[in-house]
Amino acid sequence: MTFEGWDFCRIDDELSEEERMARDTTRRFVDDRFKPLITEHFRKGTFPMQLVPEIAELGVFGATIKGYDCAGMNNVAYGLVLQELERGDSGLRSFASVQSSLVMYPIWRYGTEAQKQHWLPLMARGKKIGCFGLTEADFGSDPGGMRTRATLDGDHWVLNGSKMWITNGSIADVAVVWAKTGDSQDSIKGFLVEKGTPGFTASNIEGKFSLRASVTSELAFDGCRLKKDAVLPESHGLGAPLSCLNQARYGISWGVIGAAADCYETARAYALERVQFGSPIAGFQLVQEKLVTMLTEISKAQLLCLRLGRLKDQDKLRPPQVSMAKRNNVSWALEIARLAREVLGANGIADEYPVIRHMLNLESVYTYEGTHDIHTLIVGRDITGLDAFHAGA
Ligand SMILES: Cc1cc2nc3c(=O)[nH]c(=O)nc-3n(C[C@H](O)[C@H](O)[C@H](O)COP(=O)(O)OP(=O)(O)OC[C@H]3O[C@@H](n4cnc5c(N)ncnc54)[C@H](O)[C@@H]3O)c2cc1C
Repeated sequence: MTFEGWDFCRIDDELSEEERMARDTTRRFVDDRFKPLITEHFRKGTFPMQLVPEIAELGVFGATIKGYDCAGMNNVAYGLVLQELERGDSGLRSFASVQSSLVMYPIWRYGTEAQKQHWLPLMARGKKIGCFGLTEADFGSDPGGMRTRATLDGDHWVLNGSKMWITNGSIADVAVVWAKTGDSQDSIKGFLVEKGTPGFTASNIEGKFSLRASVTSELAFDGCRLKKDAVLPESHGLGAPLSCLNQARYGISWGVIGAAADCYETARAYALERVQFGSPIAGFQLVQEKLVTMLTEISKAQLLCLRLGRLKDQDKLRPPQVSMAKRNNVSWALEIARLAREVLGANGIADEYPVIRHMLNLESVYTYEGTHDIHTLIVGRDITGLDAFHAGA
């Protein structure tokens, strides 16, 4: 009997009935509804917006929020759902991560009751889509340097500046935009900017070879006047957007396991079928070594995520632990995609198979939500007490 699938360490045994159900429902949606469409959308550079109501039905948007028409899942169930979405495509998981961790979460954590009552139920049902604007052209890893400013003028905030590389920017109904209200990082606050507000424009970034089935935009604010209650009043300083990124990074750590698993399963099946020198290439030691490395690293990533999910549910998870998981799991998922591409030979570069698409997507995932190296510095600081972020430090 050969081992099928990718749950080598029987993670399944550790899951509750609800957790398994959330995962399996999402898995069916991805296989039946999403996978048949993804190649065309990746080629065209579009996201399948027609599926948004079905994605909402899965309870994915704001999945861990209790109340406000959200599913109130635990963090392991949410992680498993994201794993399944990213088995489809990193663009699909990005769509869900942005909506949940980067838009609904800050509204829930830093917003007024009126903002929560208005936005969260609409966003949970997928009736309104959000985006998160932190990065600027000159400030990526170092967002505290941002130039976007919000100034009070009577009953209004006036927003000036621009944001770059914003997922869902041009298709969003509302943008959570981070701006300085004074000179220091401590003055950073979040603002809800609705589509169509005069002075706010969003234009798409073209020419991407990665995350093609995900819209990425530039946002511009030119004397954009917002009502005074557009601010998220409980957001104080850079820690607020960073807390949102911590939520999203947790989800990424789970998500990329799905992309890696899709690559592994594709490579294993291909290697068993493909005959060279008179035998299936899966029978060659060098190919087996690749498959074993893939499955070992998938298994380690699953175990890490499961443990962090349980800690998160007990409110014991620390951001550097999330950094360790994001750093490890994304870099191994990318390596697994590259190994799978190698196993597929020339077919590895064709979109008849999902491998090259995952590989290209994972290059973005490696960079966004804190680059691989920035997460190294976060963990390094945590274990030494020394900050290596600044040149000469
Ligand atoms: C497809 C995609 C979608 C995105 N979606 C969003 C979004 O929705 N919202 C949003 O706000 N942003 C988004 N981003 C932006 C993303 O978060 C940034 O690209 C990321 O933070 C890195 O910033 P940067 O690209 O400016 O790179 P830089 O910060 O310029 O980094 C360049 C290189 O320098 C290294 N580096 C930087 N500082 C240090 C240091 N101190 N020590 C050692 N090395 C260092 C980095 O690791 C990296 O290798 C998205 C990006 C992409 C590609």
